[in-house]
Amino acid sequence: MAERFVYGFGGGRTDGDAAMRDLLGGKGANLAEMAKLGLPVPPGFTITTAACNAYYASGRVWPEGLEAEVAQAIADLEAKTGKRFGDPANPLLVSVRSGARASMPGMMDTVLNLGLNDDTAAGLAVKAGDERFAYDSYRRFIQMYSHVVLELDHSAFEAILETYKDENDCRSDTDVDAAGWKHIIAAYKKEVEKASGRPFPADPKEQLWGAVAAVFRSWMNPRANVYRKLHNIPEAWGTAVNVQAMVFGNMGETSATGVAFTRDPSTGAKRFYGEFLINAQGEDVVAGIRTPRPITKAAREEMGDKQLSMEEAMPEVFAQLTDVYRRLEAHYRDMQDIEFTVEQGVLYMLQTRNGKRTAKASLKIAVDMVDEGLITPQEAVLRVDPSSLDQLLHPTISPSFKRDVIVQGLPASPGAAIGKVVFDPDEAADLAQRGEAVILVRTETSPEDIHGMHAARAIVTSRGGMTSHAAVVARGMGRPCVCGATDLRIDEAQGQFIANGRVIRRGDIITVDGSGQKGWGQVLAGAAEMVRHELTGDFARVMEWADSIRKLGVRTNAETPDDVRVALEFGAEGIGLCRTEHMFFNAGRIAAVREMILAETAAERVRALSKILPFQREDFVEIFRLLGDRPGTIRLLDPPLHEFLPHSPEECATVAASLNVDPKALQARVKELMEVNPMLGFRGCRLAIAYPEIYAMQARAIFEAAAQVAKETGVTPNPEIMIPFVIGRKELAAVRAIVEEAAREALAAAGVEIPYLIGTMIELPRAALRAAEIAEEASFFSFGTNDLTQTTLGVSRDDAAKFLGLYVDRGLLDRDPFVSIDADGVGELVQIAAERGRSARPDLKLGICGEHGGDPDSIALCMRLGLDYVSCSPFRVPIARLAAAHAALSEKPQSRA
Ligand code: PEP
Ligand code: MG
Repeated sequence: MAERFVYGFGGGRTDGDAAMRDLLGGKGANLAEMAKLGLPVPPGFTITTAACNAYYASGRVWPEGLEAEVAQAIADLEAKTGKRFGDPANPLLVSVRSGARASMPGMMDTVLNLGLNDDTAAGLAVKAGDERFAYDSYRRFIQMYSHVVLELDHSAFEAILETYKDENDCRSDTDVDAAGWKHIIAAYKKEVEKASGRPFPADPKEQLWGAVAAVFRSWMNPRANVYRKLHNIPEAWGTAVNVQAMVFGNMGETSATGVAFTRDPSTGAKRFYGEFLINAQGEDVVAGIRTPRPITKAAREEMGDKQLSMEEAMPEVFAQLTDVYRRLEAHYRDMQDIEFTVEQGVLYMLQTRNGKRTAKASLKIAVDMVDEGLITPQEAVLRVDPSSLDQLLHPTISPSFKRDVIVQGLPASPGAAIGKVVFDPDEAADLAQRGEAVILVRTETSPEDIHGMHAARAIVTSRGGMTSHAAVVARGMGRPCVCGATDLRIDEAQGQFIANGRVIRRGDIITVDGSGQKGWGQVLAGAAEMVRHELTGDFARVMEWADSIRKLGVRTNAETPDDVRVALEFGAEGIGLCRTEHMFFNAGRIAAVREMILAETAAERVRALSKILPFQREDFVEIFRLLGDRPGTIRLLDPPLHEFLPHSPEECATVAASLNVDPKALQARVKELMEVNPMLGFRGCRLAIAYPEIYAMQARAIFEAAAQVAKETGVTPNPEIMIPFVIGRKELAAVRAIVEEAAREALAAAGVEIPYLIGTMIELPRAALRAAEIAEEASFFSFGTNDLTQTTLGVSRDDAAKFLGLYVDRGLLDRDPFVSIDADGVGELVQIAAERGRSARPDLKLGICGEHGGDPDSIALCMRLGLDYVSCSPFRVPIARLAAAHAALSEKPQSRA
């Protein structure tokens, strides 16, 4: 049988329902559902998303059968309404609206009053007993249709109207009478013919097909394309078209139109909340021509508004609306966003959908609805979008604040902060010590800048992508960060930066919004108004439910005691990645680290390392104390050694003097360690193969610390030693031996037993492929998906921002692969490694510690691939807990309800 493309609703017979959202779009499915519930819905029909897809698949040709189905649907609609398309005595008028599966601003605007022409307008005037109303409706139709369907410039139409009003002393549209509208209509039609070369279509059927084509076209318009990309809405979903009999909110003082939420969308409070306009059509509310009034008396009084609310002006209709909204909320079991029209005292429902809300409101509504017995805790968990928690975990800019944007970049680390511009990390640290709020602005950052980054309230860079050093470190520290702001040029010599023609000086106050607006991080002039949120109450209850549902563990990437503390407060169950190199940059230690690197013999190296040992041990003591018996994955030294050395000749001279070495020798060693491709160079466990003393020292520090804390607290720490950048079994076996020997010695000396694991990172494609043999030497794998993405795609994590955006825009990549795991490539390597690893060692523990560990889509993938835990920066821990619960619920939604 041929595919069915049209589904009718309302007026007695309804074919669809809310479950058919994919086919009928959100609006169409909900109109059908409301009609089925017996609510007053003007009858109409929906042309399916499948028709839209077929239209595109065949090169913009109507799919076979559609025309006949639409003709039948119009005949049905005529029968239901008792009106006829094009009948001057009793004309059927319809609205045409788009409606995709997800609500999508940016799609086609609505066309109202379709079906009007010179004859039907005259008929409507007689039937409504109101000539002015009929011709006002007609001119609105021509204006909307010309703009939306014929795509003519609407300024010409506005000019015609304004000229008429000026010449006839009309202050507003309401002063224009029927004769005036007729005059304007004639001018509009002339304008259409002039601009399009064709007369305005008078045949209602031709009007309708024009509007249907315009809805389909709007699916691919640039606004819709941008929105789809930002929200990951597949092009293949298509849009539906809703054609519905018109009802008029502009038929005098007993008519009205309005929108409302069944609960407050910004706070979540349980109160009906909305706005309406008497004697108006829907677009008057949206266009802001007149200021809408509150629906309820309480809201009117709160606002000090003198004009009557709907509750007071139309008490009977209000009572009916109250009944309807309560039924809708109880039926959908979620907060609804509704649209309605009152035509001469009769209420009609035009739309209902789950209302958009702030993160705060979403938590409150979810918790309240559980308490009201409306939904289960599982459903409550699913109602809160994990990513939206970002809004709560960091202070954010007040939504009503008017932004003065200096420059945009990538929203690399969420939250917003205000401070003075500084360019130098030392200065940032100094000023912060004196209690100043500073924002560090750099071309890019490196490990040497850590102290300045930590001191800064926020970080801005002009280069680098979502996993650049600045982005990773800022997220880890919970500092807002905008990176890759390519329009920003720093002139440190002049003490200023220039962006989009504006000069911002050192010391000027700026606000950094790392959460992003429409996908961009922003740098704003001056101090923005901020809001802060509470993390107890509703938040805590939803998180508790999430924890009872999820199966994936959630750990944190953290190396400072501060970060560990924050992460534990946010519910981390251990450390998944402690990057020990960050501990080497501390001002008190870097000299000894450099001495170690410059050492020419193993003995010299051991001497230098013995100076670092007590510091490292102290770091681990603090961390083990905080962790108790929770697992702590400690990764041994990973980055290339030259990162710790000075670079410019001046820096070399200073460092040489302080270390008491020959500056020439230092420069020579720097040169020797320099690499063209340091990310693929002499780093990770390769360092330990060349200099086993380094890992031996680190392992000794870890086990001495663990022994000390065990004795001191009576709680045995649970260290997991992680070897980075491994490519094969033999390599891991050699490094493992170094660690085991150091552990044996340290524990024997302390006389304490500390069970521990040795495992590896899987961050190179070869390691993923050789996972079976590697697992023979590893008790756990942790997927380092930052490096694995970089090496699988051959894309540098520091430079990719330049072209990755282009790839995403062109649809060559779905998402930035450093933000959300490239499921087809990197994901398959993870799968291969997990399977092969577990085939060799069934109890192999699997986790992920790349930045993807805090991304909800990647977390869902980790769950599907059977990982045991994810690890992410402290501020993303709650997001990961919730996302892991979502992943668990989407695996088996029924059995858990
Ligand atoms: C990784 O590569 O994913 C990882 C966690 O290590 P790093 O970011 O420190 O290279
Ligand atoms: Mg790595």
